[in-house]
Amino acid sequence: MLTLQGVPASPGIASGPAIPWDGSEAGSTEPASDIADASRRVVRDLSTRASAATTSTGREVLEALAMFAADPGLLSAAERLHADGTPAPEAVRHAADGYVEQLRGLGGYLAERAGDVVDVGERLAASLEGRALAGLPEPGHPYVLIARDLAPADTALIDPAVVVGIVTEQGGPTSHTTILARALRIPAVVGCAGARDAAGGHEVLVDGSAGALHVDPPADLADELSARERRDAVRRAGSTGPGSTADGVAVPLLANVGTVDDALSAAADDVEGVGLFRTEFLFLGRADEPSPAEQTDTYATVLAAFGDRRVVVRTLDAGSDKPVPFLGLPDEDNPALGVRGLRTSRLRPEVLTRQLAAIAAAAERTGTTPWVMAPMVATVDEAREFAGQARAAGLGKVGLMVEVPSAALRSADLLAEVDFGSLGTNDLAQYALAADRQLGELGTLLDPWQPVVLDLVAATCAGGAAVDRPVGVCGEAAADPRLAAVLVGLGVRSLSMAPVALPGVRALLAEVDLATCAQAAQAAQGAATAADARAAAAALLPL
Ligand code: PEP
Ligand code: MG
Repeated sequence: MLTLQGVPASPGIASGPAIPWDGSEAGSTEPASDIADASRRVVRDLSTRASAATTSTGREVLEALAMFAADPGLLSAAERLHADGTPAPEAVRHAADGYVEQLRGLGGYLAERAGDVVDVGERLAASLEGRALAGLPEPGHPYVLIARDLAPADTALIDPAVVVGIVTEQGGPTSHTTILARALRIPAVVGCAGARDAAGGHEVLVDGSAGALHVDPPADLADELSARERRDAVRRAGSTGPGSTADGVAVPLLANVGTVDDALSAAADDVEGVGLFRTEFLFLGRADEPSPAEQTDTYATVLAAFGDRRVVVRTLDAGSDKPVPFLGLPDEDNPALGVRGLRTSRLRPEVLTRQLAAIAAAAERTGTTPWVMAPMVATVDEAREFAGQARAAGLGKVGLMVEVPSAALRSADLLAEVDFGSLGTNDLAQYALAADRQLGELGTLLDPWQPVVLDLVAATCAGGAAVDRPVGVCGEAAADPRLAAVLVGLGVRSLSMAPVALPGVRALLAEVDLATCAQAAQAAQGAATAADARAAAAALLPL
């Protein structure tokens, strides 16, 4: 079995044959006579699809797309480009791209609408070129759809009796694919790199709750995961309040958020705060640095939403897979090992200074005390410098992320410089196993159950304990209930995850005491492989 890790998008378990789909053309049709004609045709097509949509959410999405295909601003921009000599299909694509840039610049939820706009531009261009776009596969039996990305116009027509699971290589947890998959109650995983190549033609199991795609799973895995789903549903229903083990050891359960929308929705949930506020959403794809006023407003909105609850703000984590054009970072052959995370402040120190000042201003405006931490800290010098800058900005609770093995192994020295540590297990696995987290083919190496990752977590906690600094986890590892118990057994004292995963983790922790967590941790750490570690913990922990 091969397991690829993506982002949980719509919960539940689905299995079946995988059909990869790239949405390429199906054939030809009479080309539209001009841009206005293309617009009329696309509007007609999207409106017809809207009336055939399988959910009201799908209908609303398609109606919004149809409106955009008739948008006077879009059409006149395309007409202008065409009048200046750009061929009509290119003109509509470029005009749509103008909106894409604007949406990406706005970040967060709006940035994820960019895919919808690209889709409308592509539909207009296809109409002008006389290309008919392919519909979804119809093999005559239920299947799991594996796509690079899914346009909402396609997702909205999905029949859940035929498409039993969805996996996309791109897309985020707030993309329309996700929203529609949830509305249709189809288990879905997004952002699952390499899925089409790995799964095409194989039997697969989609674990929408854990964000995993299992290729050629053993026969009993579907039963095991379905049993987990049923028990989780019962547990989740009865799980409320602060996180703690059965014997009362407090383990604050916090939310990972990336946008203001995420934060506002998490604030309404039963969570104890935010353990990771990924501020880069405000910076991604931007040609200009967000102004201090814009930053302060955004941070203040999030801080105000959580009031007295903890909010851990992570400073800009740019570079590598998180492009931020205005920083002017150099092109690198190995970007994951390059100028990223806190290191970007070596090139552009003033950006971090302004961000820290904006966080401090937001704290003052809201009367709250945010925790602030830096990503990708590797040395004591970096820790010391960041702590000095954050404290100089007036921030009282300063921490660092432990996501590089050097920081894990020397955690006592690094954590002595700050107030707390937060393990980023996604990057920690990437760097410990020397496996690019962008490469789906290396998914098994990135498994957070790899015993070496557990070793590094244990080393970090031991270092933290030696200097009396609390250590939490904010990587995806915290979202797996059994692994969460193992992390607690290793000494972790707070867990931050996608809010959807939180009730399951809370419910399992409430059933086990600290000694059992420690036993499970010892068993998992003593295993030789990730699979053995999982099995060793499973033998000691409830499902
Ligand atoms: C991590 O690396 O585990 C982490 C939480 O940070 P990110 O996923 O944003 O790199
Ligand atoms: Mg990270």
